[in-house]
Amino acid sequence: MRFRDCRRGTVTLADGAWGTEFQRLGAAPDTCPDEWNLSKPELVRQVAESYIIAGSRVLLTNTFRSNPISLAQYGVQGRVEAMNRAAVKLSRQAAGETALVFAAIGPSGKLLLTKEVTANQLKDAFSRQAQALAAEHPDAILLETMTDLAEARIAAEAALETGLPVIVSFVFDSGKHHDRTIMGVTPEQAATSLTSDGVHAIGANCGRGIRDFIPICQRLAAASPLPVWIKPNAGLPEMVGGVACYKTSPSEFAASAQELFDAGATFLGGCCGTSPEFIRTLAERSLFHSKSESASIPNR
Ligand SMILES: [Zn+2]
Repeated sequence: MRFRDCRRGTVTLADGAWGTEFQRLGAAPDTCPDEWNLSKPELVRQVAESYIIAGSRVLLTNTFRSNPISLAQYGVQGRVEAMNRAAVKLSRQAAGETALVFAAIGPSGKLLLTKEVTANQLKDAFSRQAQALAAEHPDAILLETMTDLAEARIAAEAALETGLPVIVSFVFDSGKHHDRTIMGVTPEQAATSLTSDGVHAIGANCGRGIRDFIPICQRLAAASPLPVWIKPNAGLPEMVGGVACYKTSPSEFAASAQELFDAGATFLGGCCGTSPEFIRTLAERSLFHSKSESASIPNR
């Protein structure tokens, strides 16, 4: 299987959340989980392998915060290259021949709008991360949890310079109808601009719950011919004793898979609060091939 085999009209099963799995393995909420790529590689590999066993055919990397701007908050910005390279190797070891590895890049956490960061600083930070990831030959680069169109386009430019396929995914959870990013970007604006920038897939992740993704997926698919990446949260978290709890069950989550496919989803996985159990439950749907290939749907 290759990235280009994952085209509209087929659906490939991605992975679930990593952050919530790391917390289950003992990571404190205020630590940088990306640091585990160097300090606790066996635990990172364990999470990656748990998704392969569950049926994921696309595995991300533990690099959501591994850009120099985000890592500076933890005082480990000097380890950008080592952390990103180690992460791709760990996911590749777990994926073997079974799954593609998409290297994850999250937002910088700084706002262009308020001049907390400049466009040049963002470009430099995303370039450093993208080049470090590309040095280990992932199958694609995924820019995820984006909210600001300008930042996403800068990150996309940096990622495209590696020559790898690039996917850009936004969080549409705001506005009256929960269909804009917190910065006010609509699915149409995101899809249209990134498609014209030359990225290879567009998408939505995180958000408020899987049902909200059906209209968003339709709108992304209508606004662009590209494959659509969909990774919803297991609902909105509720704080129980200081811990974020996600209330959607794996079977409730999987019940929306067919509608998301019908809406144009080309990749389907889970964001915050989803676990290998969610992926296993999704994998049981006839929608997905259980083999190491993305699937066309027979007899729909
Ligand atoms: Zn999330």
